[in-house]
Amino acid sequence: MERAIKAVLAHGLFILGPEVAAFEAQWASYCGTAQAVGVGSGTDALHLILRGLGIGRGDEVITVANTFIATAEAISFSGAQPVLVDCRSDFLINPDAVAAAITPKTKAIIPVHLYGQPADMATLGAIAKRHGVHLIEDAAQAHGATLRDGRKCGSLGDAAAFSFYPGKNLGAYGDGGGVTTNDPDLVRQIHLLRNLGSTVKYHHEIKGFNSRLDTLQAAVLSVKLKRLEAWNESRRKAANLYRSALNGCPGITVPVEAPWTGKHAYHLFVVRVVGKDRNLVARILAEKGVQSVVHYPVPIHRQQAYAELGLSAGAYPEAEMAATQVLSLPMFPEITVDQIAYVADTLRASMAARSGSLP
Ligand SMILES: *Cc1c(COP(=O)(O)O)cnc(C)c1O
Repeated sequence: MERAIKAVLAHGLFILGPEVAAFEAQWASYCGTAQAVGVGSGTDALHLILRGLGIGRGDEVITVANTFIATAEAISFSGAQPVLVDCRSDFLINPDAVAAAITPKTKAIIPVHLYGQPADMATLGAIAKRHGVHLIEDAAQAHGATLRDGRKCGSLGDAAAFSFYPGKNLGAYGDGGGVTTNDPDLVRQIHLLRNLGSTVKYHHEIKGFNSRLDTLQAAVLSVKLKRLEAWNESRRKAANLYRSALNGCPGITVPVEAPWTGKHAYHLFVVRVVGKDRNLVARILAEKGVQSVVHYPVPIHRQQAYAELGLSAGAYPEAEMAATQVLSLPMFPEITVDQIAYVADTLRASMAARSGSLP
């Protein structure tokens, strides 16, 4: 890593240096797409895909109510109207709800491979095809996740957005993002859009943005990419250990893999806490040194930023129930067998606790 960083310091091409193109080629090859384009963040990747496809004011883009706010914000930034739909009990976007939400204004569907598991891309692909709309993957949590047939997230729609935020399965040492696609026209548009509308210095074909993947971040990502498969494999092992350790634990529902899932990337290991106050359980865990996080406590339609949607509680019951029940347990490639056992034992004890704390 130090060698890769020092090489950038030595040549000094901090913006669109050779490491960016090198990483783009590696990332496209890894994902199984013709091309990849490095951009400033996952949010920008989504935003620039929409712009690059000519989606904006007057258009509608369908996405899911339980996602990170960036999915909806990217749609809003493009000028299009985000149309939210509910998820299923496995937290993934519900294709029936997507089909019901299509209108003549719909231009794209953005499924989110939430927590590292592919959405139902076969069904969504058929819906997109039937209605002539774009299918854009939010793959920000799904680096290396695959379908049963081996195809990777990032290659399952017209284009995909990745985030290289440090906490993601493939994380940089700062912000970063990427677009993968087989569409050469979209690649050309995103090359322009990420660089102020220019591919030739001081000649600007369109009005663009400043959203390039840093050379230093690309150098870091190329080094880390070599480990991604092994890291994801460790995450899957950890998930299986959690599953057996939590088997039969009253009030805890462990995540189930969908029938189309080949490799789950386990960006997060998210359980449901049923019949007990989830926040109380999280507090008891914290007292025993176990950090848990809620992804996400407030669905998009209940965020203040989206008050304009005018959607009250009850609009998306699955997403709202998930928001009250979900709890992400510690999940990272280096987690040990003992740590998993400790988390599981502590969670069992927390569920059985009669008061708000453990002895
Ligand atoms: C992280 C994330 C994003 C945004 O990525 P940034 O790089 O933080 O802008 C978008 N969608 C989902 C589902 C994410 O988890």
